[in-house]
Amino acid sequence: HAKNEGRGRHCFFDPSLTETLRERRLLEADLRRACMREEFEVYFQPILDTATREFAGAEALVRWHSPERGVVSPVLFIPVAEELGLVTTIGALVLERACAEAATWPDGMTVAVNVSPVQMMGGRLASTVAQALHKSGLEPGRLEIEITETALVTDDELALRALEEVRALGVKISLDDFGTGYSSLSYLHRFPIDRIKIDASFVNQVPHDPGSASIVRAIAQLGESLQMEVTAEGIETDAQYSYVAEHGCRHMQGFLFSRPVDAATLARLFGTHEKNRSVA
Ligand code: C2E
Ligand code: MG
Ligand code: MG
Ligand code: MG
Repeated sequence: HAKNEGRGRHCFFDPSLTETLRERRLLEADLRRACMREEFEVYFQPILDTATREFAGAEALVRWHSPERGVVSPVLFIPVAEELGLVTTIGALVLERACAEAATWPDGMTVAVNVSPVQMMGGRLASTVAQALHKSGLEPGRLEIEITETALVTDDELALRALEEVRALGVKISLDDFGTGYSSLSYLHRFPIDRIKIDASFVNQVPHDPGSASIVRAIAQLGESLQMEVTAEGIETDAQYSYVAEHGCRHMQGFLFSRPVDAATLARLFGTHEKNRSVA
């Protein structure tokens, strides 16, 4: 017992651990302040429809502009926001801004918004979505929410209810990063899913890696037989574009077409006239 205590004490005084904890506390404090000051901006990455060779819409991607840290990636701060329970506030802000922007885009263009499992399981997703639609006047059919398999495994009854409420509003549901999580095929028919997004880690490796190529083809076929739309994420090269297009993915997203851009740049890409924009 004394030995354990000794080890514990040693750990406590480990300078690198103390430093890690200190940095984490600082990040948490900065993030709380960022929520109060609304230091977040929504970027948009256009999505190409290979059938028409035109943009079909865009995915909303949050950025944190921290006065102290500069631009912080969502990969770094979303997990912290989830733990602190701030992700629901950030998520509501993203939904509201994304819908307001999309309402200024040409008719039929869709917007996809990422929803954290924490927000999805919090019990208020449908009302937050309804409010964003109401405020912006965006047609519900032009909004898609992107979820990951993580939420579906946590509590499937609760997840199903949340998704059915959102779907009842006329909003579409997309399964993000498909192939990287639990990927139980039963999810695809148990939950109301309209679209599958093939994770970039597979798309990155085509056409040269036979394993990834098989997975991309299999997911595309799965989508077709279940009558779901399929989007390939992370297209960076012409070779990836050709391979994925030939194997049945209609929609594509990636740096080859555009990086995520701010709202004004996206409006120019979509040919939206300035006079139609509700916010300057
Ligand atoms: P995601 O939803 O899978 O979004 C796609 C990510 O891949 C984006 O990173 C995008 O910039 C990046 N990407 C797109 N095309 C390419 C490409 O051709 N090459 C490479 N290397 N990357 C590409 P980002 O914006 O850093 O977002 C990362 C993740 O953070 C998102 O992954 C999503 O899980 C999460 N996230 C972003 N915005 C939000 C949000 O508003 N709410 C929540 N809950 N999560 C968000
Ligand atoms: Mg996404
Ligand atoms: Mg993804
Ligand atoms: Mg991802």
